[in-house]
Amino acid sequence: MDAKVMVLGGGGREHAIAWKLAQSAVVAKVYCVPGNPGTAAEAKVHNLALKPTDVDQVVAAAHALGIALVVIGPEAPLVAGVGDALRRAGIPVFGPNAAGAMLEGSKAHAKAFMERHGLPTARYGRFTDAGAALGYLRDHPLPVVVKADGLAAGKGVVVALARAEAEAAARAFLQWGPIVIEEFLEGEEASFIAIVADGQVLPLAGSQDHKRLRDGDRGPNTGGMGAYSPTPILDTAMSERVLREVMRPAAEGLMTDRTPYCGFLYAGLMIGPAGPKVLEFNCRLGDPETQALMMRLRSDLYTLLLTAARGDPLPKTLDWDSRAALCIVLATAGYPDHPRLGDPILGLNKTQGDTVKIFHAGTTTEHDTVITAGGRVLGVTALGESLSIAQQRAYAAVADIRWPGLQYRQDIGYRGLRRA
Ligand code: AMP
Repeated sequence: MDAKVMVLGGGGREHAIAWKLAQSAVVAKVYCVPGNPGTAAEAKVHNLALKPTDVDQVVAAAHALGIALVVIGPEAPLVAGVGDALRRAGIPVFGPNAAGAMLEGSKAHAKAFMERHGLPTARYGRFTDAGAALGYLRDHPLPVVVKADGLAAGKGVVVALARAEAEAAARAFLQWGPIVIEEFLEGEEASFIAIVADGQVLPLAGSQDHKRLRDGDRGPNTGGMGAYSPTPILDTAMSERVLREVMRPAAEGLMTDRTPYCGFLYAGLMIGPAGPKVLEFNCRLGDPETQALMMRLRSDLYTLLLTAARGDPLPKTLDWDSRAALCIVLATAGYPDHPRLGDPILGLNKTQGDTVKIFHAGTTTEHDTVITAGGRVLGVTALGESLSIAQQRAYAAVADIRWPGLQYRQDIGYRGLRRA
């Protein structure tokens, strides 16, 4: 019909969100701020060349366009309080206020929150000076994990195998602010994401991502090199357990703390012998988990997010495609440290069936050619009757795409396939 939605952000996650929103029969237009060449090419989607963190411009544009709902994709605008400003202006928004986003914005805040509300997580200490931190590290068992407190785009965590490495990380991170030192947890990582709307918790399907750059989960941490959904480790019993031990206590804890929260809540979990433990909270969807999840979501995303934004009762469950979805991230040479940019991307025009979707992330256009403009460039995502078929389809589609120095992992989904 005639609803207009605004999506803040311009990465692969936002392309997937905008694409899904545009499929709603009630949505007339989706405005992406700023979006990317991938969103620009979608039916019903328009890009607006504004900064998602420029509160005044975003509010003015939302008013001028008659926006019915703003969906905030990335963490930066959330932590900067763009959600607060939109709410003050009376615009329905999906995405927490700055106070709620502190669960992601400060590791120390998140750890204290978990401790206060009895959520399972690694034992830890918080430090602001080197003497105390090094003292704590002196007889801490190895490996040990050292984390910078604030937003660090995946670069603020060191899993140290040696004491000297832990000490160096502690010293380095302390220059920027407080640090958290925590116990190393054994197990397998998984992502559990739910819609949280003031005490209501509606879980999404489980997913798993691959944070390391190289095959076999080796190499440096990245924003994420691929993801898939569902994942065998989050079976029905484990999902129930995560809801009971993590997500519901988190939603209730936010209420107890008088922190209104409306948005996605993402728990990065380590699932080990003692059950699920929380590694981190994010106050938004994961990237690239979103690309896999949006391929599988059948429920109307717009209606769902608007219901949450209004504080109305959420449905009990969501409707998912029973097929598996798998997303492979194509990155540039030199990513994550020194991404090489500006290369024309070849093979994008090949038509894909409806089981394959290429989401844009770090791309831009120059003289009508799509070129690389960020470390993570594309998310090639496929549906399959099994995880293995989704994987084959996604890699077959990747084979059509080329640019100099293109890098991607060859083993996305391997943990799920091993368990299945
Ligand atoms: P975070 O940003 O806190 O999720 O940390 C980034 C990555 O570091 C996680 O995805 C894990 O792979 C690893 N990590 C963080 N904390 C721990 C921990 N306590 N034990 C083991 N690995 C961890």
